[in-house]
Amino acid sequence: MFTLARALPRAVCTMALAGLAGLAALAPLAEAGARQLQIRDYDPLVLDSPQSIPPGQVRARFMGVSTLLLDDGKDQILLDGFFSRPDLGDAVLTLGRPKPDAGVIRRAMVRTGITRLRAVLVAHAHHDHAFDTADVIVAADRAQTRQILLVGSASVRNVALGRYRPERWIYQAPRLSQAAALAVGDFRIWAIETPHSPSRLGRGSIDGPLGPRPSIFDYKSGPNFSYVVEHGDLQILLYPSAHWPKAVLPREVRPDVIFLGVGNLGGEDDSFAETYWRRVVRDTDAPLVIPVHWDDIQQPLQLDPRLPHVAKPNTFLDDARKGLQKVFRPACASPVDVRFMPFFVEIPLASAPPASARFPRTVSDPMRGPCAAIGVALR
Ligand SMILES: [Zn+2]
Repeated sequence: MFTLARALPRAVCTMALAGLAGLAALAPLAEAGARQLQIRDYDPLVLDSPQSIPPGQVRARFMGVSTLLLDDGKDQILLDGFFSRPDLGDAVLTLGRPKPDAGVIRRAMVRTGITRLRAVLVAHAHHDHAFDTADVIVAADRAQTRQILLVGSASVRNVALGRYRPERWIYQAPRLSQAAALAVGDFRIWAIETPHSPSRLGRGSIDGPLGPRPSIFDYKSGPNFSYVVEHGDLQILLYPSAHWPKAVLPREVRPDVIFLGVGNLGGEDDSFAETYWRRVVRDTDAPLVIPVHWDDIQQPLQLDPRLPHVAKPNTFLDDARKGLQKVFRPACASPVDVRFMPFFVEIPLASAPPASARFPRTVSDPMRGPCAAIGVALR
């Protein structure tokens, strides 16, 4: 376990040159010693929650795939909200029409502490993002007085409208620039349309409300959005789908932390992952990357706090262990920390110096072991 305070040392600017000098000392080892990392090999990189989190500090909870709750103690912003995790073998072989599981959703929401939800941001309309969104909003809305925003594409809206009509939320198309950012409490939210990860499945868009029991094949992607969430000095980049942006990311994107999707990367070659890393992580000078969308999208969500290594990696059409490693490898040769969220545990997020101003890595850097195992030494 590793505390975020140690993961995000508040370096002063005078350390910038020392940091760069330290980076120059990073050197790859012979590939001969490289091996496939298992999920448990990343255990030293799992973030640990401190005893207490100062009021007002933004904290995150991870519930698997790219479902993530951001909370500043007053307001909560949810990404996706996918809890039901239906078995796709059943859904495909029997032409079944899985539907959101109200019991699973309710228990997960209680476990997550979703009580002050203001907005749900949805990456795209595939089932592993948009399946439960409407049900989560309606369940949260019952306990609140304020209406909840649903932010996503028209396809996402049509998934939600298949579940509840008339709309029980305020639909909001993503705002596409920092200047037009949506204010939700003290959060400011804007979006960038970025490509979906490489996949032949579920392409196209959803052009009218789905029925209440759509087939799993009806969840067509529609446009995919990455979201920038700002709060005070903190900037968070939610990047759920693994593909680099069509154009250079706006210069305003300078995140303190990126929640980086790795789904579907397992089948891509190393150069794809390296370009992804360069265009999303290095170009934004982000100091901290937390991989998401690596766990088994069909494994029932357990409500006990789980370390990532207890979750199964996704193997549906993709070996997530390989995808993770493809992203982890360039991190070993970068001034960027990779860390993992435990499930359901509150982790504080803090602004931090950009990667280019980081301290040199130390002997006790927890990335040293996993990096060495894949043939890269941090010196
Ligand atoms: Zn997708």
